[in-house]
Amino acid sequence: MKAALQAIRGMNDVLPEEAARWLAFERKVEDLFERWGYRNIRMPLVEHTALFRRAIGEATDIVEKEMYSWRDELNGEDLTLRPEGTASCVRAAIEHNLLYDGPKRLWYAGPMYRHERPQKGRYRQFHQYGAEALGYPGPDVDAELIILCARLWRELGLEGIRLELNTIGSPDERARYRADLIRHLEAHHAQLDADARRRLHTNPLRVLDSKNPAVQAVVAGAPDMMQYLGEASLVHFEGLQQLLAAAGVGYAVNPKLVRGLDYYNLTVFEWIADRLGAQGTVCGGGRYDGLFALIGGKPAPAIGFALGCERLIGLLADSGRAPAPRLPDAYIVHQGEGTLEPAFALSDALRAAGFAVVQHAGGGSFKSQMKKADASGARLALILGEDELRAAAVTVKPLRDGRPQWREPHATLAQRFPELIKAH
Ligand code: ATP
Ligand code: MG
Repeated sequence: MKAALQAIRGMNDVLPEEAARWLAFERKVEDLFERWGYRNIRMPLVEHTALFRRAIGEATDIVEKEMYSWRDELNGEDLTLRPEGTASCVRAAIEHNLLYDGPKRLWYAGPMYRHERPQKGRYRQFHQYGAEALGYPGPDVDAELIILCARLWRELGLEGIRLELNTIGSPDERARYRADLIRHLEAHHAQLDADARRRLHTNPLRVLDSKNPAVQAVVAGAPDMMQYLGEASLVHFEGLQQLLAAAGVGYAVNPKLVRGLDYYNLTVFEWIADRLGAQGTVCGGGRYDGLFALIGGKPAPAIGFALGCERLIGLLADSGRAPAPRLPDAYIVHQGEGTLEPAFALSDALRAAGFAVVQHAGGGSFKSQMKKADASGARLALILGEDELRAAAVTVKPLRDGRPQWREPHATLAQRFPELIKAH
């Protein structure tokens, strides 16, 4: 026998019981996006590596060490499995001139790939839903996206997800802040760890969210971004806060929140579930007014977020509420000469009328078929034997209550079926 092959580390199967939870989650998220006026967009899983290098930034964890990239041997192109969706979404919007008649609200979903160390809540293939509001300067749409998240948690029945909010200003303001931050960090070089030293000149803002206590102590005395904001940035941030307060969405301003990706400006936010521990961020987003121009498009303001399905579905699983699986209304038992074709016809008719029907497959005795019918969770077994066939009828056997079985003519079955499957 050959050795059994296994899935790649950090890339998981979702087995049926768990998949039921995924489906219920996906239906809720997608329904909410549609109700809020967001339209679905689907991008390829593979893009030119250059897109992510340019859009996400060289000095980020993703581009430095997390991308699955390779040279396509057939045509010599450098390609990458997408680590996130925003770059592709904006690339598609530019390529197809989606903003020609005004701004657009979009959502996407699907697997993302990052070569990280797998652990609970952190995988190499994981799934996101993302929403992008393209062409809107905000802060109204910033508030809209954040309120949308708050409503989503409520509709999912999730509590204890808190919002952290910050503004990182305009590129000019950030450049001035960056220079002063570097000066401060250099003055405390001895207390910085290797990571912080490496980032000091490439991506110093990322030092702000270091988890190392020694580095945090240095960061505590760092200059405050708020002091560098001009009038327009302050008005944007205050406008957003007012709208959130009016909508009853609670938040905390975290001046050290900068997010991992380079392309953000002004509003940045994260939704955090503390009970998930270190992998507690379930959703992150922000404004990226510079991204269109960065990847060669006409400048357009934009903001978006991405939420992590594994972490949110993990929260749903911990809350103990399992989605009710759809049990069959009927299980079709058939035995005897010439009963298989009419069994198919019967199943067909009931399914076409919207009922959930499982038809026995694989043969076996009447008794073993009835066992399967019972195990299926169906309300009724519909039995089609040679006697029933001659009588143009089926035997209806209720499986979940004490009603005795009876014969029902084919002629009336479909019409009376809704009544037959009612609980007694
Ligand atoms: P983290 O700081 O946890 O690495 P991130 O800043 O890299 O997160 P984003 O790029 O903002 O994450 O992605 C948005 C969301 O996608 C995250 O908040 C998280 O819920 C989820 N996510 C990101 N990376 C992973 C991963 N490797 N496995 C599972 N979920 C992930
Ligand atoms: Mg990350």
